[in-house]
Amino acid sequence: MKRGYFGGYGGQYVPETLMPALKELEKGFYTIVRSRGFKREFSGYLKDYVGRPTPLYFAGNISKRLGIRLYLKREDLCHTGAHKINNAIGQVLLAKRMGKKRIIAETGAGQHGVATATAAALLGLECVVYMGIEDMKRQAINVTRMEMLGAEVRGVDAGSRTLKDAINEALRDWVTNVRDTHYVLGTVFGPHPYPTMVKEFVSVIGKEAIRQLKTKEGRLPDAVVACVGGGSNAMGIFYPFIRYKEVGLIGVEAGGTGIETGRHAARFAGGRIGIFQGAKSYLLQDANGQVLKTHSISAGLDYASVGPEHCYLKDTKRAEYVYVRDDEVIEAFNLLCQEEGIIPALESSHAIAYVMKNPSQFREMLVIVNLSGRGDKDLATVVEYMKGNI
Ligand SMILES: *Cc1c(COP(=O)(O)O)cnc(C)c1O
Repeated sequence: MKRGYFGGYGGQYVPETLMPALKELEKGFYTIVRSRGFKREFSGYLKDYVGRPTPLYFAGNISKRLGIRLYLKREDLCHTGAHKINNAIGQVLLAKRMGKKRIIAETGAGQHGVATATAAALLGLECVVYMGIEDMKRQAINVTRMEMLGAEVRGVDAGSRTLKDAINEALRDWVTNVRDTHYVLGTVFGPHPYPTMVKEFVSVIGKEAIRQLKTKEGRLPDAVVACVGGGSNAMGIFYPFIRYKEVGLIGVEAGGTGIETGRHAARFAGGRIGIFQGAKSYLLQDANGQVLKTHSISAGLDYASVGPEHCYLKDTKRAEYVYVRDDEVIEAFNLLCQEEGIIPALESSHAIAYVMKNPSQFREMLVIVNLSGRGDKDLATVVEYMKGNI
């Protein structure tokens, strides 16, 4: 396959002015990230700072109830509460080794912004985070968190004032300040080398899961299930399993209030191939190619496009993509709280919801769900939903 492409997806669809930055990053990725010294330093931080390996936990109570054997990969126990820190530390370490002094990032709900601000504080680089002003209102605590960590949060007052507008601003900043700045993109999306590089930083999730399940059960799982926003937590756990054809891979998108209502973020169910923010991929767009507004109860899945490698896995049928609705997600959230004493992120609850909704599909099977993050950040949303305000 052509470098930077997954089948016909991916690529580098960016303005000419951004090409030197991508070329430099590509070079850094293929030389520095793959060097022994980098790998050693990176895995040191993953172990002692992030808290890896994260546990692979047998969810006995839910298993009994559903008639399956369900394991949870506990990315919610990572420092800062989700899988995103793995990628953030990888990229900030790379930036430092490339001689950059300044880090920029985009954020939607603020989780990636917090992870990047954390990594920048740890490694001593200046950090600016772009965030839509609508999101800043909805996620005030994460704005405070980033500021406490020493980052500057720049509000973006353009378009829908949310994630995609923040990405546009971050790209603009990068073009202007490319000499001393690295752009930490938060998922397996954007122009090459981001999808490949981010995958490399998060694939530790799947590598650990294979080893851990081998110890506990002496075999591979029958299925691996993960939620898909941009697609990094899913790619992180899927990637090491791709070669084992007998393991089913299932990505769960945000069905919102239902595909027919138009209020969702299910790119595979409701989108068409398009080019957006540097990559060719599935995209929610209208008849004129304008990007559609999306909806999900979980901010982290609320994005109009999806990582290009997921499109390739779908086309080649190596992975299957499904969706669940907001109400099913809330039900799964409650189940995990009450049965296992774990408060999951609403994003991760999508993966649980799909398994919960289809027990007969998984009967007697050994299933791993990637529990991508913890749900403390979502409590207000759940309370409002219960009151009928969402
Ligand atoms: C950001 C986020 C996601 C979605 O991002 P991916 O790149 O699809 O993983 C999922 N779960 C949690 C907890 C998140 O914070």
